[in-house]
Amino acid sequence: MRIDIITLFPEMFEGPFSHSIVKRAIEKGLAEIHLHQLRDYSTDKHKRVDDYAFSGGAGMVMMIEPVARCIAALKAERGYDAVIYTSPDGQLLDQPLANRLSGFNNLILLCGHYKGVDERIREHLVTMEISIGNYVLSGGELAAAVISDSIIRLIPGVLTDESSALSDSFQNNLVSPPVYTRPRDFNGWVVPEILLSGNERIIEEWKYNQSVERTKIRRPELLND
Ligand code: SAH
Repeated sequence: MRIDIITLFPEMFEGPFSHSIVKRAIEKGLAEIHLHQLRDYSTDKHKRVDDYAFSGGAGMVMMIEPVARCIAALKAERGYDAVIYTSPDGQLLDQPLANRLSGFNNLILLCGHYKGVDERIREHLVTMEISIGNYVLSGGELAAAVISDSIIRLIPGVLTDESSALSDSFQNNLVSPPVYTRPRDFNGWVVPEILLSGNERIIEEWKYNQSVERTKIRRPELLND
């Protein structure tokens, strides 16, 4: 999978993509992430990429020309399955959406800033809009990092134990069962005896029941889906 991220702040991705699972996916060649500084696509002598809103009011708006030029340059090189704009009013990112995106080959992620992007970008250049939650961020970078992480870990071969993505929360509309590690007893707080029983069938059944019970209590809306 190849992800092209269009951003005013490419440095913001250094942290999220250079550790742990995403880093390993890139090293293994299973994921490629390319960062594009939007200012490089501005023809303005000051490299401006934003301007005042026609309606007036506070806040700058990202201009269509640099974004159009950047997307056109990328599309001239290869086809894209989706051009995604990170937006608070987009489709909410959830596990089924992450699963679907992880099957794509080439994705563009456009990070907004300021008041957002000129509406014509959304109408004509973007094919999908994704929100990471009902709150407003300062920019799309953190959202793009979250979207990328959630899909890269699902690419076959990225997780060392393939089954581990399947046992995470939200797969099968259930949250994950509780997990424990050593010591068995910490100040009298003990690990459920059943997990130490060695009886795999009973343990699996316990985990499943825990998942169902916890989903009922914590995230009942998942069970209605
Ligand atoms: N005026 C806009 C918010 C702009 S926030 C509005 O009220 O909808 C600046 C940028 O941050 C947005 O263009 C978007 O790219 C990004 N962003 C903010 N919140 C986000 C969220 N919840 N999910 C995804 N992207 C978000």
